[in-house]
Order: sequence, then structure tokens, then C-alpha cells
Amino acid sequence: MSEASEQERRSGIDRIKPSVRRLGGYHLAEAHVPVKLNQNESPYDLPEPLKRRVLEEVAARSWNRYPGFVPSALVGAIAERHGCDPEGVLTGNGSNELIQAVLAVTVTPGAAVVVPEPTFSLYALLTEVHEGRVVPVPLRGDLSYEAAKFAETTRREEAVVVVICSPNNPTGSVVSREEVRRLHDGTDALIVVDHAYLEFGGEDAGELLDRCPRLVVLRTFSKAMGMAGLRAGYLLTSPELAREVAKAKLPYNLNIFTERAALAVLREPQALGEPVEALRAARDRIFRELEMLSGIHPYRSEANFVLFRVARDPVGHAELFRRLRDEHGVLIRDVSHYPMLDGCLRVSAGNGEETDAFLSATRTILEGS
Ligand code: PMP
Repeated sequence: MSEASEQERRSGIDRIKPSVRRLGGYHLAEAHVPVKLNQNESPYDLPEPLKRRVLEEVAARSWNRYPGFVPSALVGAIAERHGCDPEGVLTGNGSNELIQAVLAVTVTPGAAVVVPEPTFSLYALLTEVHEGRVVPVPLRGDLSYEAAKFAETTRREEAVVVVICSPNNPTGSVVSREEVRRLHDGTDALIVVDHAYLEFGGEDAGELLDRCPRLVVLRTFSKAMGMAGLRAGYLLTSPELAREVAKAKLPYNLNIFTERAALAVLREPQALGEPVEALRAARDRIFRELEMLSGIHPYRSEANFVLFRVARDPVGHAELFRRLRDEHGVLIRDVSHYPMLDGCLRVSAGNGEETDAFLSATRTILEGS
């Protein structure tokens, strides 16, 4: 036995699946900057009175007891919001956890999972953890979805799951409800539609749940609902599929604090109306203003962020990213390593001041150099 493998054996690392050891893992470097526009969070915190009420409710409850086995009040409020059967609702510690649960109950070694390219990297990462086969379907050159290709690829590869992210992260592109319906009816895979950014644009595939039994819709409290720090998301599907996905979900995955906060937010949706409108307006303003800058090509987005390509002249994407952060304290996301996104950066819509700071710093860097 070679020394390296002896070392691997002693450390136990040789027990880790090769499919996992090959992966880079999901990672985001911490950075403390005044203007943080790199994670598509809402810049608007929840209203102070709502936060206080939730804190008081949680303080009044015993912390030594587990949460209810099913967070029924929250599940009921979600079912009411969508007019669906509560038995088809699952809540998660962020929608990430539910993506994981869906893939855990579907992906066997070698099974094909069809995903857009480029998209949120977690779908491919979790598929590979389960030794599935990621089959990417590229977006068009203008980064719009070519929906028909998904059905074709799903049939050819006999895929078990198709993931559609709409609006898509990091491009902001959308798939219509009719296209989701055709994909469902034209294949026999599970169709998972990740609607993390739906409040900002695009059509709700959730309205198809009654007629599309293999449809699974994912939603989150982390973006439009301003609760990223508390970790809450949910899944909508048929009661039959929900019962199976629930088997891969940890018991008591939603803590009592998150459950109460999510319920409070659903009961006070007016707290969210204005921020969502403001973020859509900020996104459109970012698009319009970037479009006027030479050397920058923004893509139309239906989400709360804008993707843009930076020409090499006068300042390349890496230099623009670095100078925004180091000279102006504005942190955005470098997505240039994604397939098809060479030279691309993504900026989240911020509040008025943050959006101003990003736009004016970008102008200064491009025009001043
Ligand atoms: N889906 C997409 C497309 C995302 O971009 C994100 C977060 N960046 C998530 C799901 C996960 O959201 P959460 O776990 O916070 O609900």
C-alpha cells in the first residue's frame, strides 16, 4: 500500500465516496463591506413591531420541548395562500433543504437529472453527492430558456428529475406556465420548479399543481420575504409525493423561532408589498443605467438581480469586481466561472442608497480609467 493511501486509510478519508471527494463544495467567502449586493437578499429588514411580537411569542413558549411534529399552523397558512391541500406542503430549513430532500429520494447512481446551464449550482452538487448524472441543457446565447429542449433531453436521457429555476439564478430568465405544463405532459420525470425569486417576476407554475401530479414547486422566505437569516422555505406538490419526500427530511427541521416568524410574515403580507415593488424598480433601473455604459452588456432579468457582461476594455470584469469592493465598499458576485458566463458579474437590487452606490462607483471606475 502506498504512503498516500495509508494516510488516507488512517484519516478515514478513503471512506468518503469518490463522487463527493471530487466536488468543490458550495462556498462563499465572507466579506464585510458597507454595500452588500452579492447574495440576492432583501435589503429591507422585517418591521420592528413584527420582530418584537415574534420574540415575545417565542420567549413565552417552553424551549425545552420540541416543536410540533408538523408545523401545522404554518403549513395551514401556506396551504391557504396557495389554495392547495396542506398534505402536499412541506416546510424546510431554507428551500435548500427541500432541494436536498427531493434529490435524496429520487437520485440513484447513474440516474439523470436535467438542469439548465447556467443555473444555481446546488442542483448539480447534490445530484453528484447521490452519484446521479447531471445533464445540463444550455440556455440560448441571449440566456433565455429554450423550453422545448428540456423535454427532448429528459426523454432521451430517461431522466428522473428535471429542475427548472424560474426566474433563473444567475441569469434572471423565466419559463412560462404553459412551457412547464408541456414539459410535464411530454415527459414522465418529476418536474421541480424552483420559484425562489417568483415574487419579482415570471408566471407561477404552482397554479398547475391540480392538473400536474409530477410537479414539485419550491418557494422561499429568504428573498422577497426578507427572512434569509432565519432559514425557511417550502415545497408544494401532491400529498402522495410529499409523503415520500418527507422521508428524507430531518424531523423537527424548522425550529420554533423560524416557524413563528414565517407565520407572522404570512399573516402580514402588506409588510412585503412595497419592498417587492421597490426592488423590481431598482432592478429595472440597474438594467437601464448599465445599458448606457459602454463596455457593459446587461441581461433582462425578472428576479431581484441583474447579470451583466463586461468587455475587456476599458476595465475587465475581474478588475471592476475588485475595485468596486476595495475602493468603493460595494460587493457584488463574480459569476464569470459559470458555463456561458465568461466575463459576467451579478448585482442584487439594493435599497435606494445601495443601488446609487453601485451605479455611481461603476460609472466612476469605467469612465475614470
Ligand atoms: N434556489 C435558488 C435559485 C437560490 O438562488 C437560492 C439561494 N441563493 C435558494 C434556492 C436557496 O434559498 P434558501 O435555502 O435560503 O431558501
